[in-house]
Amino acid sequence: TLFPSMFQGPLDDGMLARARRAGRVGVRVHDLRRFGVGPQRQVDDAPFGGGPGMVLKPEPLFEAVSFVRAQFPSPNERVVLLSPQGKPFDHAAASRLAAFDRVVLLCGRYEGVDERVRVGLADEEISAGDVVLTGGELPALMVIDAVARLVPGVLGNAASAAAESFASGLLDFPSSTRPSEYRGLSVPAVLLSGDHGAIDRWRNESARAATREKRPDLIEVSSTVTASARRPRGTS
Ligand code: SAM
Repeated sequence: TLFPSMFQGPLDDGMLARARRAGRVGVRVHDLRRFGVGPQRQVDDAPFGGGPGMVLKPEPLFEAVSFVRAQFPSPNERVVLLSPQGKPFDHAAASRLAAFDRVVLLCGRYEGVDERVRVGLADEEISAGDVVLTGGELPALMVIDAVARLVPGVLGNAASAAAESFASGLLDFPSSTRPSEYRGLSVPAVLLSGDHGAIDRWRNESARAATREKRPDLIEVSSTVTASARRPRGTS
């Protein structure tokens, strides 16, 4: 990143700070300026072919990754370029990245990074969504947060991650806490019944209803997966 201070705060508070202190995850922020070119430590330049804005030069990014590799050898690594042109980040990507020993997140700025970074350095491009932000720092923090909570031992209760939205293919069921009635709005009676079988059934049905209403695309995917998983071997 060219803006290391943007990582202070999110990394130094709450679950991420605890996970770092406990040694469950390590996060190191590297200032690309250190790897800039020449005495001015130049990190950007005008685009070949003309046009507005500046482009992040390739050298700082390649050199920074070489530095990280030399300092902290790690055989099982993934280099991710944060980019609005990447695949939108989701639970599947977070789970996949959580299996690597190291994920290197490259944050672009200005008009973006030299194309050779994408071609010759990054293993994949990840997007925070179909919107253009000023830099890759906020998307990188999003990736760090989502990946870290899937690392074993980071969440206080391991069951939490498994029960949450997307992990099962559905959205989470609705939750409520005390008071049971507030401003004329009541909590569903079944949740106060103490009947755990009924509560489980209600939660399953509510998760399906919430998914159907808010994210019908997930139901299509999960029923396709279920149908193909149930299909007898040898049929298609
Ligand atoms: N010119 C680029 C384009 O239109 O595709 C956008 C460059 S953007 C202003 C500068 C940097 O912000 C990008 O290189 C990328 O690292 C980051 N960025 C912006 N939007 C992003 C998004 N939706 N997801 C991930 N990174 C993003």
